Amino acid sequence: MVTLPTYADVEAAAARIAGVAHKTPVLTSRTADDALGASLFFKAENLQRMGAFKFRGGYNAVASLSPAQRKAGVVAYSSGNHAQAVALAAKLLGAPAVIVMPHDAPAAKVAATRGYGAEVVLYDRYTEDREAIGARLSAERGLALIPPYNHVDVIAGQGTAVKELIEEVGPLDYLFAPVGGGGLISGSALAARALSPDCRVIGVEPEAGNDAQRSLAEGRIVHIDTPKTIADGAQTQHIGDLTYAIMKRELAEIRTAADAELVEAMGFFATRMKIVVEPTGCLGLAAAKQIKDRLKGKRVGIVLSGGNVDMKRFSELLGA
Ligand SMILES: *Cc1c(COP(=O)(O)O)cnc(C)c1O
Repeated sequence: MVTLPTYADVEAAAARIAGVAHKTPVLTSRTADDALGASLFFKAENLQRMGAFKFRGGYNAVASLSPAQRKAGVVAYSSGNHAQAVALAAKLLGAPAVIVMPHDAPAAKVAATRGYGAEVVLYDRYTEDREAIGARLSAERGLALIPPYNHVDVIAGQGTAVKELIEEVGPLDYLFAPVGGGGLISGSALAARALSPDCRVIGVEPEAGNDAQRSLAEGRIVHIDTPKTIADGAQTQHIGDLTYAIMKRELAEIRTAADAELVEAMGFFATRMKIVVEPTGCLGLAAAKQIKDRLKGKRVGIVLSGGNVDMKRFSELLGA
């Protein structure tokens, strides 16, 4: 039996990250509201420290370690944002950090991770197993492994963004958030269930990697090959047992969005709302547009999960 995090864990995480993580703004857009016929509230985690919500879970997890564990150091594996999150959290908390990253991760993410003082170990995401590499480093060097999503403190930390969102704008009818390994959507669902019990929580995956959608449909955790998508924050091969259990219990639905829909949303955010949102962060708006008939007159929260995209890549994708 696994012990699942609860809303009390989200509240404890909120206290731990207070004054360290940004309380990010909630943005609105008259243009987006008119286009969907709904009231949209965008939680701008692209403006979070290190550029994504992952700082919340990473900091909460490192801060929850014993002083001795912190002194020994931490290890994390990640396609990018979790790496930076753990690297920055470790730096702030005085812990050494080793980060296992794919060799084709966006250059900006690798550079930022090194910039926070972490040691970066590169691997091939199409042929090597990052979980095995993380486990080996943890055993060899006595480092505490901070997994990217399947961890009570990580899930609880991720839930603080939606806690802030609902506390600021009030109850929601719908909430959309991206799904990679499911840490963000799980924490978000715990917060939504506690603060806005009637809210329908919808997770959104890249079309090329709908393993979470299939997992809920088939009643078991489905493993897939690393999906080829521009949503690099959601290129996970499987969800975890904790995130699976919470998603199964709390989600109304999982939808998918194609890369072209993400590019369209990214262009909308840049031109109309003047913000940079990375492709993965665009999943929520892309899915909301797909079901706009159901959203008429509703109050809809959308988590913009991050903003870390190379400027070169950003302009290539937008055809600029
Ligand atoms: C990690 C990440 C996600 C997915 O979060 P999970 O907790 O793995 O589901 C979504 N968006 C961005 C920007 C991310 O970095």
